[in-house]
Amino acid sequence: MANRLEGRVAAITGGSQGIGLAIAQRFAQEGADVAFCYRSNQAGAKEVATEIHTLGRKAVGFQCDVGRVADGQKFIADSVAQFGKIDILVNNAGLERHADFWDATEEDYDAVLNVNLKGLFFITQAFVKHRMQAKAGGKVINISSVHEELPFPHFTSYCASKGGVKMLTRNLSIELAPLGITINNIAPGAIETPINSKLLNDPVKLNALLGNIPLKRLGKPEDVASMAAFLASSESDYATGTTFFVDGGLTWNYQEQ
Ligand code: NAP
Repeated sequence: MANRLEGRVAAITGGSQGIGLAIAQRFAQEGADVAFCYRSNQAGAKEVATEIHTLGRKAVGFQCDVGRVADGQKFIADSVAQFGKIDILVNNAGLERHADFWDATEEDYDAVLNVNLKGLFFITQAFVKHRMQAKAGGKVINISSVHEELPFPHFTSYCASKGGVKMLTRNLSIELAPLGITINNIAPGAIETPINSKLLNDPVKLNALLGNIPLKRLGKPEDVASMAAFLASSESDYATGTTFFVDGGLTWNYQEQ
């Protein structure tokens, strides 16, 4: 594997499992040191840190609720204190809540929007301030979703959050370009992670979904991690403000009956 991230430090939100974990591993394999945060899965976080150490890289897991702005700012400050700098920010932490629109509660709305959009907004702001102080550029990678584009009935708060991230990325690509900071989204389709455990255990729903995926399989966290490694590396230097779909063809699938 190429060492495209040698000498870089990455901060990843939600690195204790799923896609964030795969990104942390992949970045370490490519030579980066990794600061990551988790909300509650301390055991998972310890395992991730230990595994990254065995790859010869530094890794520290910080407990942080991304939905609380002060926590997110502290995550960035603590990571900078520990590693001296952050070159790459991956906004990965996210959650979804299922409800018919007319039953959705304010609590669920806040839980989703506070982490997926508000937390991401202010963590990115803290990262940008750090890079401004360091007088250096950087890379922001947001793990959005195909649902920044595609409707997902009964998950309206989730779609609103990911649609918000799409516009945040387009906007910031312009505002951050003079600072040498690029920002892009990865839009995963259906990836095998704990967030999808209900779906993975429902053969009828799973088969219906597979029928909509031209490549006829679910994605693996590693499929997303390899795109993230490209976007974190200098190979993507001319890409900013856009979304890279990693969805097996799901988004634009259309078949004549
Ligand atoms: P996951 O397996 O549920 O993992 C989510 C990660 O985020 C965990 O490490 C979790 O930490 C952390 N997290 C959640 N809420 C947090 C909070 N308030 N503060 C800090 N960390 C928090 O999810 P995933 O499938 O890997 O999803 C990762 C991202 O990809 C999300 O943004 C999701 O929307 C997006 N995505 C996933 C799929 C998919 O099919 N899996 C598709 C499209 C987009 P704890 O375990 O400690 O709570």
